[in-house]
Amino acid sequence: MPLPIPECIHCKIPLVLRTSKQYRYHNGDPKRFYGCPNWPGCNCTSGANPDGTPSSIPADDATKQARRNAHRIFDKLWMRDGREWDGKSYLLTRKRAYEVMQGLMGMSEEQAHIGQFSIDQCDQLIERLKHWQEVAGMNTTFQKYKGKRKRGIRK
Ligand SMILES: [Zn+2]
Repeated sequence: MPLPIPECIHCKIPLVLRTSKQYRYHNGDPKRFYGCPNWPGCNCTSGANPDGTPSSIPADDATKQARRNAHRIFDKLWMRDGREWDGKSYLLTRKRAYEVMQGLMGMSEEQAHIGQFSIDQCDQLIERLKHWQEVAGMNTTFQKYKGKRKRGIRK
């Protein structure tokens, strides 16, 4: 389902489609995004696809920071050194990591994207991920690792 035309979370007016001078898509085209008409007084922005359709939920700087924090912790489940699970390490696959997030947040596959989270939801995810790793997750996450290392670790 396409996302609605984004509205500024502070000014409650529609954001305007703009083209970035700084950022580019993978194909080299300048990035498009939605920005508040009251910029620079208001820094609320939202992502856009190359065709101009919205790609994220509007956010101010505080929300963007919270999402970066949440992503950093979540990505540790399935990435190492910026790369996806290689089938050898103890990390989860990206698909499995997202399933874990869906379970922890009680969200559907469509809802469970950090780029759409509020600050509260980011905090919730971080807290629940930490708890999950402490209680149940470690066994799942480190199963492969433990299996390999068991003899080496125990003296
Ligand atoms: Zn605004």
